[in-house]
Amino acid sequence: MIRAKKSLGQNFLIDQNIIDKIVNILDLKNRNILEIGPGTGNLTEGILRKSPKKVLVIEKDYNLANLLKEKFEDKIKVINKDILRVDENSLSDQTLTVFGNLPYNISTEILCKWILNLEQKIWFDSLILMFQKEVAERIISNFDNKSYGRLTILANWRLDIEKICDVSPLSFQPKPKIKSTVLFFKPKKKFFLLKNSKNLEKITRIFFMHRRKMIKKPYFQLFNGDESVALKIGIDLNSRPQNLDFDTYLKLTKEFENLRS
Ligand code: SAH
Repeated sequence: MIRAKKSLGQNFLIDQNIIDKIVNILDLKNRNILEIGPGTGNLTEGILRKSPKKVLVIEKDYNLANLLKEKFEDKIKVINKDILRVDENSLSDQTLTVFGNLPYNISTEILCKWILNLEQKIWFDSLILMFQKEVAERIISNFDNKSYGRLTILANWRLDIEKICDVSPLSFQPKPKIKSTVLFFKPKKKFFLLKNSKNLEKITRIFFMHRRKMIKKPYFQLFNGDESVALKIGIDLNSRPQNLDFDTYLKLTKEFENLRS
């Protein structure tokens, strides 16, 4: 019997209906799969039933990694590492289809890292990830909405996002305190070009520092008191950060980059 470690956010998925839903989002035949945080391998089993070409899993817990090696033998390749310390571009020559039911603080961190590090060669074709429901709502939000923010803007810049389903705490063992949501992401073929994704991160960080205040202050801070960019792209400086749509943040970032080049 495996004792779940709280420090590694171990809540194992035990609901076969949810596992089936997750592995049926795509046809996995001939795909190269990366699963992060496979735990005891419940989702891994579901994935293997769909005849993928290769399955690579990354599990930080040493004991679980060993258990997975014994359980699946040569059907999967187990890497006993922390996903935050892995260079995803070096994992495979083929594009990967990624599954993950990770601890919730890590899912957000990892999603941001992946978006900000996306290069010309994109190492994944899809991401199927579990989030805390409230975080998923922030990711799929839209402007003029309470949950709209940095995460929404960053994710929607490079990814098409689809909500698959909510997952009750009862679907896990041990039961988490919160509801979860499965999201499905695909890299956008066409996206707004920026010189450096870090600039979008910076602009959204400064704009959303005070959600309830007018954007005048952060705007003037970034554009050295010059109103012309706001006039050019049609921003009302009396609005609040959540009132500007995705495109406006991208245009703002581009203008910010132009000023510095
Ligand atoms: N996917 C499994 C387990 C979910 S629990 C299931 O659905 O049943 C989360 C898993 O992520 C645990 O196995 C935990 O050990 C692992 N994990 C936690 N932090 C990790 C990290 N930084 N890198 C890789 N795996 C991690």
